[in-house]
Amino acid sequence: MTARILEGKVFAAQIKEEAANGVAALKSEFGITPSLAVVIVGDNPASKVYVRNKHKTCEELGINSIVVEMPETSTKDELIAKIDELNNDRTINGILVQLPLPAAIKSHEEEILNRIDPLKDVDGFHPYNVGKLVTGDPALVPCTPAGCLKMLDLAGIEIDGKRAVIIGRSNIVGKPMLHLLMSRHATVTVCHSHTHDLPAVTREADILVAAMGKPKFVTADMVKSGAVVIDVGINRIAPKKLVGDVDFEAVSEVASAITPVPGGVGLLTVAMLMQNVIKATRLQVQR
Ligand code: NDP
Repeated sequence: MTARILEGKVFAAQIKEEAANGVAALKSEFGITPSLAVVIVGDNPASKVYVRNKHKTCEELGINSIVVEMPETSTKDELIAKIDELNNDRTINGILVQLPLPAAIKSHEEEILNRIDPLKDVDGFHPYNVGKLVTGDPALVPCTPAGCLKMLDLAGIEIDGKRAVIIGRSNIVGKPMLHLLMSRHATVTVCHSHTHDLPAVTREADILVAAMGKPKFVTADMVKSGAVVIDVGINRIAPKKLVGDVDFEAVSEVASAITPVPGGVGLLTVAMLMQNVIKATRLQVQR
């Protein structure tokens, strides 16, 4: 079997088109142009690329975007004061603090992220939004897992009743993915570094989501024939070479559908962020 390649750009274009329609609807219904504020602390080059990308996508879709650049030496209190200012600014609808934070304030990450107004929390990391997702009333959902689910829907891949296996249990990917797939009636298993006989578990998956951060870890013998494989991993193995958590070439021979890296899930994340900015704006209008 040679798998169908689930190209991120195809689905990202559809998600962005929906977002552009959402921007137009907010304008005509309420006269509002949604606005995103991205806060970046320090000079991490990868973070700068991500922030530029978000800014560019906002511009493309007619979303206002401001980038708040804070020095590497910023204190926790300075960052919290900036978040408070953005929380109180009625012209700002979405707030995102680009991670990772500099080493000196990294230990305060939770306190800093929890300071964001839950209705402006476009990353979906605030405990309020986590709770909403877990109780089956999702509001703002983390962009990467939300993008994976959206892609499955757009690709016409059935979820209801399927066995889904997720490798990784982070708050950003694995755990929200569990709740999203479970809410769509998949039977979901979440694996992590303590899982015994991982290949035996992954071979049961109709839908396999790899989000562990280990280059090419998932090999063909770990995948059931005909499975749908979503590779969330982004691993830099050389200055200009990114690979996923899945051995793409070998697994393509076994799976029925697979996402490439690069060019897969990564593109969906930014597109879903745009949808979250629109959703956040609507939530604030209803507040
Ligand atoms: P984390 O490091 O937070 O979590 C990794 C998870 O994988 C942990 O739960 C860990 O288990 C599990 N794990 C690690 N090794 C093994 C193993 N040998 N067997 C089974 N489970 C294992 O990573 P993230 O969730 O933040 O990210 C995962 C990957 O996805 C990374 O490559 C990251 O770059 C990428 N990513 C991509 C995004 C995109 O836009 N496409 C967005 C976010 C992340 P344990 O909990 O026991 O330690």
